[in-house]
Amino acid sequence: MPFRVAIAGAGPAGLYAAILLKRTWPDIEVHVTEQNPPDATFGFGVVSSDQALGFLREDDPETANLIEPHMERWSDIAVVHRDERIAIDGVGFAAIGRLQLLQLLQQRARELAVEPRYNTHLEDAPQPGDADLVIGADGLNSVVRAAAPDDFGARMDMLSNRFIWFGATCEFEALTQTFIDTGLGAFNAHHYRYASGMSTFIVETRDAIWRKAGFEGLSEDQTRATCERLFAGTLGGAKLISNNSHWRQFPNLRCERFFAGNRVLVGDALHTAHFSIGSGTRLALEDVIALVKALREHALNLETALPAWQAARQPVLDKIVAAALRSARWYEAFDRHMALEPWPFALEYIRRAGRLDADRLRKMAPAFTLGLERRGIEL
Ligand SMILES: Cc1cc2nc3c(=O)[nH]c(=O)nc-3n(C[C@H](O)[C@H](O)[C@H](O)COP(=O)(O)OP(=O)(O)OC[C@H]3O[C@@H](n4cnc5c(N)ncnc54)[C@H](O)[C@@H]3O)c2cc1C
Repeated sequence: MPFRVAIAGAGPAGLYAAILLKRTWPDIEVHVTEQNPPDATFGFGVVSSDQALGFLREDDPETANLIEPHMERWSDIAVVHRDERIAIDGVGFAAIGRLQLLQLLQQRARELAVEPRYNTHLEDAPQPGDADLVIGADGLNSVVRAAAPDDFGARMDMLSNRFIWFGATCEFEALTQTFIDTGLGAFNAHHYRYASGMSTFIVETRDAIWRKAGFEGLSEDQTRATCERLFAGTLGGAKLISNNSHWRQFPNLRCERFFAGNRVLVGDALHTAHFSIGSGTRLALEDVIALVKALREHALNLETALPAWQAARQPVLDKIVAAALRSARWYEAFDRHMALEPWPFALEYIRRAGRLDADRLRKMAPAFTLGLERRGIEL
């Protein structure tokens, strides 16, 4: 009897797990169940640092070759504060529409004879007896995790800021962080192009400002129109597009154990990393790469492969998740940081995740550091 794998969820993690498993063991049975139709998605584009895509090329050149031609790339981050635009050079980003990414992964899965079962909501986790290995790739509200949260040691707390994910009908030149002080209070937009004529536009504000502004009582379209008005100067006549866009608070999710019996969690089902460091999709794909590597090295023996997977993956994950948390905390107080002048503000912004000392910053962003030094700002 072939080894059987049941995968809950056909987001980036679930599809990629199916692809890597079938690529490694063409004879195993892989069943993927997804609640949505294949062309549904939340959100617009997703971004990742350029280097972060290196892992995909190393491990799976076929999938990298399929995805990379569809990515928008640029090399600066721009920070706009008090209407001054400051470019921070040398970071390197690549972005792609979430739906396009999913469709490319669906195509690759099909080539490997995996056809997910779409439009099928799992009320409960696949039972341990349903498969030799159960992969919970079913995102933040994972039923696989919810069936046994204590087995995974799951903990979740919410950040307080409110954010909402829109598209915009224009192409921003670079990944841009725009901070504005409005009559309602301070707002931030994370915006970047991800396809021809389209950008992601995420609006964020403090919870108290969100309440004071009366967003709670607005419809989806009124919310979109209000955000469009607040950021009219940034949008320059472009429209915001809503795709089931609602204000949310970002959840910090951690699990002490990545597996319980023959069930594992990957991607957003296992952990979250604040979107301001653009890593959630990459982490989801990397979880899968590490899992399949451990399964290969242990010849599909789960008893040894799963602890080896967690031991190898956890230190890397902890580092990125900690950086994401530091970045998220900076955003939680971004209105207070806005008391700084634009250049010191931009310096504080780029250092918010705590990973850039003066030497690294000089190497990474020579033009930006020169601009700081010319203004007598110490690194
Ligand atoms: C505002 C915002 C901006 C972001 N920006 C970025 C970014 O720029 N770059 C980046 O890398 N990441 C970004 N992310 C994070 C990224 O979207 C996630 O980390 C990534 O999608 C995780 O992939 P996943 O496959 O683990 O989970 P998901 O993408 O959530 O996929 C889970 C899948 O499981 C399905 N599912 C769930 N429950 C069930 C069920 N009961 N039955 C059947 N199917 C089910 C869902 O329909 C879904 O298709 C952002 C997130 C947010 C909120």
